[in-house]
Amino acid sequence: MAEFDVDLFVIGGGSGGVRAARIAAGYGARVVVAEEYRMGGTCVIRGCVPKKLFVIGSHVRHEMEDAAGFGWTIPPATFDWPTLIANKDKEIARLEAAYTANVEKSGARIVKSRAVLEDAHTVRLLENDKKITAKYILIATGGAPNHGAAIPGIEHVISSNEAFHLKKLPKHIVIQGGGYIALEFAGIFAGYGSDVTVIYRGDNILRGFDDDVRAHVRGEMEKNGITILTGCTVSHVEKHGEDFTTHLSNGSSIASDQVMFAIGRHPAVANLGLEKAGVAINPKNGGIAVDGFSKSSADSIYAIGDVTHRHNLTPVAIREGHAFADTVFGKREVRVDHADIPTAVFSQPEVGTVGLTETEARAKFDRVDIYKATFRPIKATMSGRDTRVLMKLVVDGSSDRVLGCHIVGDAAAEIVQAVAIAVKMKATKADFDATIALHPTAAEELVTMRTPTARHVRQAAE
Ligand code: NDP
Repeated sequence: MAEFDVDLFVIGGGSGGVRAARIAAGYGARVVVAEEYRMGGTCVIRGCVPKKLFVIGSHVRHEMEDAAGFGWTIPPATFDWPTLIANKDKEIARLEAAYTANVEKSGARIVKSRAVLEDAHTVRLLENDKKITAKYILIATGGAPNHGAAIPGIEHVISSNEAFHLKKLPKHIVIQGGGYIALEFAGIFAGYGSDVTVIYRGDNILRGFDDDVRAHVRGEMEKNGITILTGCTVSHVEKHGEDFTTHLSNGSSIASDQVMFAIGRHPAVANLGLEKAGVAINPKNGGIAVDGFSKSSADSIYAIGDVTHRHNLTPVAIREGHAFADTVFGKREVRVDHADIPTAVFSQPEVGTVGLTETEARAKFDRVDIYKATFRPIKATMSGRDTRVLMKLVVDGSSDRVLGCHIVGDAAAEIVQAVAIAVKMKATKADFDATIALHPTAAEELVTMRTPTARHVRQAAE
């Protein structure tokens, strides 16, 4: 009789857990995946995918506005929020079914239940109180929205989870936060026609991104009619019938019919039985502590994706899940390289970025060259839209290596995905210069910026 009921028990049917389960099953492992909500996890069910669909739909407003300059007369358009929600729900249900089918096709089995750890080799299914023993357990439970401090009226505030299921489009929404989710939803709601006010506690949105990107995105969002208030927080929220008054730390208040917080996400580690199984938390970030192979402090238990709070991005979780399965079941040690991960914020305009910011590069390298251009995209010359694209390369002035690429503008994410290959391959500025431009595109700017716009040499005393 086998020593364990299964070889691998995966807790969490999101992108990372599913990838690990499928690859492990492909290596012949007997695999069970437990999912308490819907297969597909945050990204598919209430994250990246429905968000991108919303972004695409809301962008249609800009397309219609821009059309007149190209000769089109478009009658006043109407928009129906319930149709958007219903069609999005249909697509998400299709994807959920595809995720389920793919897992089952791989030979892994799905159980729809919350699973908690009993010890380092045992999980208990809360659905039926059944215990299952496993040689290895993979925790891939993801994360959940932060709600912040228990301010008065916090019960009236929605997170991105609820934003995907609103019954109607808000007339005016107040969004607290200056990161990915706040800015993406600001663009979505504004595109569909809501008045949007963003409240951010610091001096400028997108902390951690390149400072030129932060300034450029803010300016462009403001040009699109979004109000961005910095240096303040929401202190309390009052409800009056269907409407709200949001009071700010600076003493002012804003009337709206929806209030949303997007103030970060925390790893879903609560009530998982981690202590019983000897799984330690990383005190620095509150996620499960893991080594370079995603192994936790318990030898038989691994953790991947947002629950480890390393780089909370779907493709990273997928890569970690794949590497785990290769390492543990494929007899091939694979360590995920977390350097130079490209990322995009699907704000409007969108941001695409890979590698070091100017500030990071200047802290690390003695000589840093900056190549920066802002220009009017070709479409705007006819549409008349007041918008500019930002392209920036951060280069090591000693080795000529391109350390970072930062773009704000249409298709920034698509461009940066390709540039990320060059950055990962340690391409130099000379390699960029040797590449012939593709004309007429915005991205050709990346291979035609000849002269540094700034040159920073670190003084000995710095
Ligand atoms: P982010 O970490 O991106 O942003 C959180 C924002 O909330 C920051 O502006 C932060 O300010 C602010 N904040 C944090 N705590 C408080 C507080 N107590 N009061 C007021 N403001 C606060 O988190 P998001 O929620 O936007 O997204 C979560 C994560 O999900 C992202 O970090 C990303 O990893 C992932 N994600 C990725 C997407 C993509 O790839 N396109 C899309 C959506 C999410 P400060 O900067 O001052 O700390």
